[in-house]
Amino acid sequence: MRPNPTLAELMPRSATERPTLLACRGLLKTYRKGPVSVPVLQGVDLAVRAGEMLAIIGQSGSGKSTLLHLLGTLDQPDAGEVHFEGHRIDNLPASGRDLLRNRYFGMIFQAYHLTPEMTALENVLLPAMIRYGVFSYWTQARKLKAQATAILERVGLGKRLHHKPRELSGGEMQRAAIARALMNSPKLLLADEPTGNLDQANGEGILDLLGELNQQAGLTIVMVTHDSAIAARAHRTVTLVEGRMQDAGRRAA
Ligand code: ADP
Ligand code: MG
Repeated sequence: MRPNPTLAELMPRSATERPTLLACRGLLKTYRKGPVSVPVLQGVDLAVRAGEMLAIIGQSGSGKSTLLHLLGTLDQPDAGEVHFEGHRIDNLPASGRDLLRNRYFGMIFQAYHLTPEMTALENVLLPAMIRYGVFSYWTQARKLKAQATAILERVGLGKRLHHKPRELSGGEMQRAAIARALMNSPKLLLADEPTGNLDQANGEGILDLLGELNQQAGLTIVMVTHDSAIAARAHRTVTLVEGRMQDAGRRAA
């Protein structure tokens, strides 16, 4: 068995390559339910460069969501490490991981996970409320609302600011979720099957938007999908098979 690479080996080879933003090494994760244990990740190594749009592809049940949750510190590995900007993040206390996600990571999910009783604008403002706390939020509410409105306009929802999720289409809900993910100007967007609940046209629209955010705003994106056509939108694809990364295909950026 090949030994896990050192972090230095996961780093870019030449100075012309962009620095590594996110890396993991030797990630292990097994789910246990009573006597049944399901080994899901069995030594995952990955490095994501700043500015990259990376797709992680794998069959349903291959552990894509599990991996994305570990990369995003929503869950912790049984073994292995996750590093962000050179700092180890998987072993931070819960409060540190909450702060990291709020400030540096945006996340979007197949089922959008919007707060149903809030409007699109309020959903987008939520990460700012968490970031600043009630008092500081209210002292700058006007500026933050203008910022959230501009982001909703950017994702094509300028005319849906005061709609609640149930009054939005699937594509619009995912746009609102993307806007929410962008509110605190993240360095990294983690996307779990972001078009999984959408029809072809709406899915294409979301992929176009993610591509623009990557190209124009330089947002680093890690997207997991079971669909190779969707993965083809990324600069680079890695494949999760039997709990490990199988290969690395690369397209021109
Ligand atoms: P994917 O996103 O690639 O479809 P997942 O990461 O969701 O795969 O799941 C990988 C495997 O782990 C599946 O066999 C799934 O049933 C199992 N699994 C996922 N989450 C849990 C959990 N919380 N408890 C037990 N098993 C789980
Ligand atoms: Mg999944």
